Amino acid sequence: MDCIFCKIVDGSIKGDIVYENDDVVAFRDLNAQAPHHILIIPRKHIATVNDFTAEDASIFGQLGQAAKQIAGDLGVAENGYRLVLNCNDDGGQTVYHTHMHFLAGRTFTWPPG
Ligand code: AMP
Repeated sequence: MDCIFCKIVDGSIKGDIVYENDDVVAFRDLNAQAPHHILIIPRKHIATVNDFTAEDASIFGQLGQAAKQIAGDLGVAENGYRLVLNCNDDGGQTVYHTHMHFLAGRTFTWPPG
């Protein structure tokens, strides 16, 4: 499968990894939109949120737990951060391996663009 994020998971492409465990890997986004822009991904290839099955339900929990851990590690938990999952064209998804954007280090506005 030609998936760039699977290649970061298996180490064939280098990622700037900031956190990993048995289920998820988190690495810095190449095109950062904030002082801290990290992508948290499941090791398992799941193309979009639409492709999650009941047996994948715990992965959402793992993404959230990883976000909390990273926020603590970076010292941004108190100030806050934004978590984003884009799905398909209208959501702005460009890489088809589900990923949670972790954005921190500045104040974000709402609504998003
Ligand atoms: P999305 O538009 O939600 O699919 O987000 C995909 C993100 O992946 C973008 O923010 C890209 O900058 C980022 N990205 C693409 N390739 C890489 C890579 N090799 N390493 C780190 N981030 C990447």
